[in-house]
Amino acid sequence: MSIEAHRCNVKNCTGLVVFENADFDMKNPDTIKGVYAYDDPTCNVCGKEFLVVPYYVVIDPEVEDDIEIIESACITEWEKQRNSNHVR
Ligand SMILES: [Zn+2]
Repeated sequence: MSIEAHRCNVKNCTGLVVFENADFDMKNPDTIKGVYAYDDPTCNVCGKEFLVVPYYVVIDPEVEDDIEIIESACITEWEKQRNSNHVR
């Protein structure tokens, strides 16, 4: 099992987008919202939905502005956040 965490890109949101990548079928991604994607994790704070997509993509340059790759976060950051949530 492998867990990945990425920083939410919503302004002022400190949430993380966390997902497990163990079950991904790299050669046969699902189609989510009309694009190939392995998963659709959500931010653990604001609930914004993201898509985990294959790394190599061919995109329509006319819709390029709609695509934003969010920054990955250290998994320990998520673990810290999760632990502090358990305390509450
Ligand atoms: Zn968020």
